[in-house]
Amino acid sequence: MSSADVIITGGRVVSTSGATAADVIIEGERIAAVVAPGSAAATAAESGGARIVDATGCYVVPGGVDVHTHLQLPMSPDATSSDTFATGTAAAAWGGTTTIIDFAGQMKGMHVRDAVEERLAEADGQCTIDYGFHLSMGDIDEIALKEMGTLADEGLTSFKFFMAYPGVYYSDDGRLLQAMQRTAELGALAMMHAENGIAIDVLRDQAAARGDTGSIWHGRTRPSRLEGEAVHRAAALAEVAGAPLYIVHLSSSDALEQVSWARQRGLNVFAETCPQYLYLSIDEHLDQPGIDGLRHICSPPLRERDTHDTLWQGLRRDELAVVSTDHCPFCDNEKLLGTDDFRVTPNGLGSIEHRMDLIHAGVIAGEISLARWVETCSTTPARLFGMYPQKGVIAPGSDADVVVYDPNVTQTLGADTHHMNLDHSVWEGIEMPGQVRTVLSRGSFVIDNRSYVGRAGHGRYLRRDLSDLLV
Ligand SMILES: [Zn+2]
Repeated sequence: MSSADVIITGGRVVSTSGATAADVIIEGERIAAVVAPGSAAATAAESGGARIVDATGCYVVPGGVDVHTHLQLPMSPDATSSDTFATGTAAAAWGGTTTIIDFAGQMKGMHVRDAVEERLAEADGQCTIDYGFHLSMGDIDEIALKEMGTLADEGLTSFKFFMAYPGVYYSDDGRLLQAMQRTAELGALAMMHAENGIAIDVLRDQAAARGDTGSIWHGRTRPSRLEGEAVHRAAALAEVAGAPLYIVHLSSSDALEQVSWARQRGLNVFAETCPQYLYLSIDEHLDQPGIDGLRHICSPPLRERDTHDTLWQGLRRDELAVVSTDHCPFCDNEKLLGTDDFRVTPNGLGSIEHRMDLIHAGVIAGEISLARWVETCSTTPARLFGMYPQKGVIAPGSDADVVVYDPNVTQTLGADTHHMNLDHSVWEGIEMPGQVRTVLSRGSFVIDNRSYVGRAGHGRYLRRDLSDLLV
């Protein structure tokens, strides 16, 4: 029998069914046992030379799983998202996330295989935590449709399609239907950026022609009705194709209504939202002059403040299954490219480090339960994207991706203290009731009592199974 390397004692282990006082015994890269405090197994591990992590007063939670990130993503010739695979995964670990799924992007005329190989090479040896890729498809043709099968066999089991961004990633309804027929056939998961990009581009150009070029117009030209319409259409296409569907970065009440409608109809439709849509708003944040507004440009845009309550309710009711970040940070010099025209501003903001904190704050505020925090930020994303029970749960045999989370400290978020490679923060000055203390990735310490002890290259590429939540 191998001996315990680490025992986490005195904490409350949180799962989708709640929190229990338990000790977690780790051997090598895996969780060996979850045992009652003071039990013979716990005592044996403690006296057998295992390193003891005292988690008294803390939650012990499965490492966070962020299934929507964009590290070192070139958005235009002049703008590339500022976190690299090295800095972004380290920042994720600081915030209690131990798995990310980023994207390989197939542009027009590009072979999907090349898109994937390119991203694998970029990430290789750089990541502090485990990582996988979805494939973003911008050119759905016969070759790409065929190649999806090979990729799925190799463990890339989710494919993202776009109703937005005409001329870049956009696919028309016919192509979307074909792609979803293919995911249905493969048992893979179809992901959708659901905004009506054709209509949005008309509104954007009309605004620019009128001289309405400030950042608020980014929001006003992407009305929530055009997100709701796209979700409805995506769900209809998925129903006809017989494909499960995952809506990314859902931002509005209009869109949530359509997810709710589709689920009541019995369709396999899931959705994620992101912290920015739960906390920030178009009036308070996007509608500001200069750099302050530009920093808040993301797509879909920030919505009205009263949307926050609706989205938290969606999380409670499981109409929203997952919280991811859509982390896509740009430093001020790149955001300022859009000073005279919001259309030129690179879209995206940075939250990879703060997701677990921001959603835990929802627990403190009474919006969701502790169990639901873990479920939406770790367990369900692991299950939906074919990584469960390797990830997303503290159980014997699972990877020892474990976070010791201290709910008793208060931290203030901001650019001076965060670890993202970003010269500002949309979360500046926000007080958080709780903080990550210690993080393990496959049994190795990455954050040790608020010190970074991780290593670029520790993170491994994840070959994923098919989703286990699909009927
Ligand atoms: Zn995204």
